[in-house]
Amino acid sequence: MTRYVYDFDEHCEEGRALLGGKGAGLAEMTQLGLPVPRGFTITTEACRETMRLGSEPDGLPEEVEQHLHRLEEKTGKRFGDDRHPLLLSVRSGGPISMPGMMETVLNLGLNRELAEALAVTTGNPHFAFDAYRRLIQMYGEVVEGIDAHAFSEALEELKQTRNLERDSDLEWADLARLAWRFEDIFREHAGRPFPRDPRVQLAAAINAVFASWNAPRARVYRSEYHISEDLGTAVNVMEMVFGNHDARSATGVCFSRSPATGEPGLYGEFLVDAQGEDVVAGTRTPEPIANMQAVFPEAFAQLEDAVQTLERHYRDMQDIEFTIDHDELFMLQTRSGKRTAAAALACAVAFVDEGLIEPREAVRRIEPAALEQLLHPAIDPSQELQVIATGLAASPGAANGIVVFDADRAAERGKAGEDVILVRPETTADDIHGLIGARGVLTARGGMTSHAAVVARGMGKPCVAGCSALQVDLEAEVATIGETVLREGDVVTIDGTTGRVILGQVALIEPEPGPDFDRVLAWADENRRLHVLANADTPEDARRAVANGAQGIGLCRTEHMFMAEERLPIVREMILASTDEERNAALARLLPMQQGDFEGIFEAMPGLPVTIRLLDPPLHEFLPPLEEVTDPLVRERVLALQEANPMLGTRGCRLGLQWPEIYEMQIRAIARAARAVEERTGKTPLVEIMHPLVAFEEELTRLVEMTARTIAEEGGIAYRVGTMIELPRAALRADELAPHADFFSFGTNDLTQTTLGFSRDDAQGRFLTHYLEHGILATDPFATIDVNGVGELMHIAVERGRAANPELELGICGEHGGDPASIAFCHGLGLDYVSCSPFRVPIARLAAAQAALAHDVETAYVPAGG
Ligand code: PEP
Ligand code: MG
Repeated sequence: MTRYVYDFDEHCEEGRALLGGKGAGLAEMTQLGLPVPRGFTITTEACRETMRLGSEPDGLPEEVEQHLHRLEEKTGKRFGDDRHPLLLSVRSGGPISMPGMMETVLNLGLNRELAEALAVTTGNPHFAFDAYRRLIQMYGEVVEGIDAHAFSEALEELKQTRNLERDSDLEWADLARLAWRFEDIFREHAGRPFPRDPRVQLAAAINAVFASWNAPRARVYRSEYHISEDLGTAVNVMEMVFGNHDARSATGVCFSRSPATGEPGLYGEFLVDAQGEDVVAGTRTPEPIANMQAVFPEAFAQLEDAVQTLERHYRDMQDIEFTIDHDELFMLQTRSGKRTAAAALACAVAFVDEGLIEPREAVRRIEPAALEQLLHPAIDPSQELQVIATGLAASPGAANGIVVFDADRAAERGKAGEDVILVRPETTADDIHGLIGARGVLTARGGMTSHAAVVARGMGKPCVAGCSALQVDLEAEVATIGETVLREGDVVTIDGTTGRVILGQVALIEPEPGPDFDRVLAWADENRRLHVLANADTPEDARRAVANGAQGIGLCRTEHMFMAEERLPIVREMILASTDEERNAALARLLPMQQGDFEGIFEAMPGLPVTIRLLDPPLHEFLPPLEEVTDPLVRERVLALQEANPMLGTRGCRLGLQWPEIYEMQIRAIARAARAVEERTGKTPLVEIMHPLVAFEEELTRLVEMTARTIAEEGGIAYRVGTMIELPRAALRADELAPHADFFSFGTNDLTQTTLGFSRDDAQGRFLTHYLEHGILATDPFATIDVNGVGELMHIAVERGRAANPELELGICGEHGGDPASIAFCHGLGLDYVSCSPFRVPIARLAAAQAALAHDVETAYVPAGG
């Protein structure tokens, strides 16, 4: 029979897949001998079975009962007993962490009579009634779906009547009254009284946790982070310990290192006389963990030891929840900590230096996309700023945007392309779509570990939290900071690195990634097989590419060189010329300009290959708008050149074959530039000439011949010649093309358009967006290679191309060349290089290394927090 329940001290072969991350952490901490309250975990399989059957699987209730018995024996307490009542916490926890999605019921096992008894036996009525009112609220929310506001309003009302700020300042008699009021609220909303029987409470809480797996916000989160719908959640049932017992009690969360910078040392917060929810919910602003040493010296020392043990055990930065109950420390959770890219690098480098992990493990641990955070903008320090408030620097980076108070509207306006700063009193898991749509988030309440802070860091977005000067009136949709009034649409800038909130738009600058970045990328370079080149059209881009570690230029597009303002009229003359003389005259003027372009790029790439692609314009981009043309002859010519579908028209080599003078001019310019640079610098440029949009062998043989002839006419230089593979026919007939080429470069932008019959410009924002939103396609084929369609054509081209020409070099230069998943695919395909935008070169270096390491790993790569 399937087993569904494991005590924390029992070994479970399948670990976190069955126990969930939280359950596995509790079991491991227990087995490491750390102080953990006793309890048991109901497996994810029980959840999956319950969802499948629509009711609990056979044997589950009995198994829970057995483990409950055992828990009673171990603790010496009894569930429902009025002298020594066993109170439980019930918490969800799936195999992959979903911060803020957690369903929790605390103090389970109480009812009115037991609360009264507890008040007497403990001599602490404040504690007893506080625990009871919390139970009614959490149980009401989680099991019956009652809106939290129904309860929090009653609490606020009472505090106002008593003129009190903090919940914990309420007298016990008031807490008792509040609990009775909560019982009424529960009955009004649920249509039945709060259940008195602890076993009924437990069964209902377990089922509610199972059902929460399918809650809308959980689905949104899973879809955003590509987490499988089939995993299910485990349920952890644990003896309660009380951070709200008295002033010698507290609850807290901490990281083993700073999740913002990776700096070693405890980093976190605690709240005296409070339960865990108070910290995470951000309703009270907690104290920094360093203050704990003075208040709870023993527990602090014990916590430091436990954190060390856990970091060494997991060989990773940990995110820990703990409670102090009457000076006694209890560990409630440990998991791999979510962190910024800077912290991820710092931790990985530190663990290598401490001998905990190998350099290649460090390479595996960095999420390539997260590196982008380090290339995030910061506020230009030379500017005058109108700082209107300072909150906690909760997630680094700076962002400008319009103020939006509502998560739905933030999602909407963000999707529409507006820069949005989501401004809230605090955020909850229900605001997740608003956070996704926003550039950054600003909250009035909450600490470094509040929901807003944790989620923003995970998304690499700036967050300023706990900005106490900020007052948000959600009803009226206005916020005030001192004298300043903010309404939806007003522009603010937030700086999550310093916590500043600034009125208006300010200029942002790119930051410098630090030495950890360089070390990890150097390790990546040692481990990758793919070369990483850049797509660069200007000397400036080329220099940025080299600075980012590019090993050459894989695609230098020449269209933009023809678009420059002073050149466009000459280009038009060339295109619209009705005689060869006219065309040659225009080309003669363009030639020195082109030569200058290429000289600049060769000089920026000393000793590195530069692949220049000959002109590939959709012709209409160069034509003057018809209404601007008055000359009837020119008009006629423009009309004659106009195409119904320019993307499938006179593009690429079709242009070069019809008007060879254009390509000849470009080839001459390349040859002269190479020679001039060689004379000037003593370094021979590595010239590669690439022909676009080839479909037929005959096209390529003529182009190769034209290239050779023109180079010879120029007195000869060393060069290589190749073709792009960006049409299905070219991929299929690769064996006919390969003998004429030194290299193939997959132009996956056009190959995707032509394989799928999707025009990129018409697809995005229209039917493709519909496809993605409705799950017809799982990923955007213009961002990640459509492996089964485009990918199969690439596979065919690689096989047939290499068979016909074993020396053939193979690469990719479409946008996909900078996408980690596509890079992994290209590695598997056996390509020689990827080429991507200069900005993405570091990401590509890392992704290429991870792809190489994925084939010789002992332990699969688990992303931070996963
Ligand atoms: C391609 O088609 O993938 C490519 C690199 O060429 P372009 O994007 O310039 O059409
Ligand atoms: Mg193309």
